[in-house]
Amino acid sequence: MSKLLGKSIVGFSRSQSDEPFTQAVNPATNEPLEPQYFTAAGDEVARALDLAEKAFPIYSSLPAAKRVEFLRRIAELIEQAGDAIAERGVQETGLPEARMRGETGRTTGQLRLFAALIEEGSWVDARVEIAQPDRQPLPKPDLRSMKRPLGPVVVFCASNFPLAFSVAGGDTASALAAGCPVLVKAHHSHPGVAEIVGNCVEQAARDTGMPEGVFSLLYGGGRSVGVAMVEAPAVQAVGFTGSRSGGTALMQAAAGRKQPIPVYAEMSAVNPVVLLPEALTERGEAIAEGMLTSLTMGVGQFCTNPGLIFMPDSAAPAFKEKLSSLVAEAGCGVMLNAGIAKAFRESTAAIEKIPGVKKLAAADDAGGNCASPAVFSVSVETFLSTPDLQAEMFGPATLIVEGSMEQIEQAIAGLEGQLVGTIHGTEAEIKQYTSLVKTLEGRSGRLVFNGFPTGVDVCHAMVHGGPYPATSDGRSSSVGTMAIDRFCRPVAWQGFPDSELPQELQDANPLSIWRLVDGERSRESL
Ligand code: NAP
Repeated sequence: MSKLLGKSIVGFSRSQSDEPFTQAVNPATNEPLEPQYFTAAGDEVARALDLAEKAFPIYSSLPAAKRVEFLRRIAELIEQAGDAIAERGVQETGLPEARMRGETGRTTGQLRLFAALIEEGSWVDARVEIAQPDRQPLPKPDLRSMKRPLGPVVVFCASNFPLAFSVAGGDTASALAAGCPVLVKAHHSHPGVAEIVGNCVEQAARDTGMPEGVFSLLYGGGRSVGVAMVEAPAVQAVGFTGSRSGGTALMQAAAGRKQPIPVYAEMSAVNPVVLLPEALTERGEAIAEGMLTSLTMGVGQFCTNPGLIFMPDSAAPAFKEKLSSLVAEAGCGVMLNAGIAKAFRESTAAIEKIPGVKKLAAADDAGGNCASPAVFSVSVETFLSTPDLQAEMFGPATLIVEGSMEQIEQAIAGLEGQLVGTIHGTEAEIKQYTSLVKTLEGRSGRLVFNGFPTGVDVCHAMVHGGPYPATSDGRSSSVGTMAIDRFCRPVAWQGFPDSELPQELQDANPLSIWRLVDGERSRESL
């Protein structure tokens, strides 16, 4: 591993700032990790923005094959840095090496998935309507449309995905694939991993002849560096994963600009799981085992963590008893940083104080930055009258809500927007509870049947989104190839000469992409 410098990457150069920002801390030992990281100076942030603005027309006009080369080169270089990432990542996050390596694979897989998407080319949703000059009562013009990139995008790294939702994660990969330069705001929790990956992206940009400014990585506080970038006129969209307060602050900053821009923020979710009566009778213990795995995976620090479990109060006790005994025996895990560990302790202490809430079980607290898994229960009546019970406990804790199936449906209807809604039942039950399933669909971006909410596959059909506050815009997904749509807008050309149209819309269809021609899917030339 080349020596870490602690400096922002501004285009193809390094920051000269000597204003200290942060030093990473190993959450397992509380020991600081070298080097010191420095806040990007105001003129360096301005230079990164200027470079991105100038890079946009060049980068967005490159043939897709060049962007494909760039994305694949980033993936290659990240793979080559795998050992350095694993070593530093474990130190900075407390996550095990297997997770760091797995997340590295997911990150390079995402980059290659987007490369394949733009290499094939049909993602631009090209539409062609052929002119009908003789149409009555009015002639029809020649109209052609497709998706075009928005412009420079600011990406905020997520603390809980140091690779897959950080420097070269899903937001960056989808924005670069769309043709947008990216300015990354590093997360203070894993600055070293950010620098290693940032070096890979910069090197890949040089190796493949990308314009300077296609990528910058900036260190500094969210308010000084992050908000400054969101407010900069050059920036056209924002990708964010983190707290609701952070996401909404950025939404407000973006909405207050002279030209408001979209913020795609993935924030809090409790991801309700509904256990139907027959499933509980048939396999209550097995569901409890799967639930524990989902609840404690990554020390519960997943946005899809099952934070709320609805079940009929008439159900057999097997599920509750099994989950409680498993939770009591579960080991503690080191959380990502001291702030997140403190927030988890505070949220579990707060829920316990709410009248009517019972702590069913908790693992022994190992102290430090560890989180001890916990399970609580409450009646649906109390849940319905206590909005605070919907709050996310970011970590391995869940709340069981018991009542009649009618009350449970009522409670689901009153939930805030969620990333995932899960149902366990028999095939006959899911037919019987159609209305409940519809209600859950109204609150969720993804529905899971007889599975668990964690484990988000990166593919074409994935939706990792959901109504507010799961995300700021429930019409989008931040995982899978749909994520590219967030950084594009549709543009139509009316009556343009063929030679002046983008290749995707030309008569000859030189890229052989799928298009909608007069309402019919076709790969033919006109
Ligand atoms: P965070 O505090 O929201 O920070 C994420 C990023 O946004 C950081 O770069 C931060 O900059 C920036 N930021 C935060 N507030 C801002 C503001 N008001 N204006 C401008 N930028 C701002 O998230 P976190 O550090 O990852 O974790 C904190 C808590 O968020 C957790 O305890 C958890 O409750 C929640 N969280 C939820 C999820 C989820 O998926 N549901 C994921 C991660 C975190 P700084 O460098 O200045 O901090």
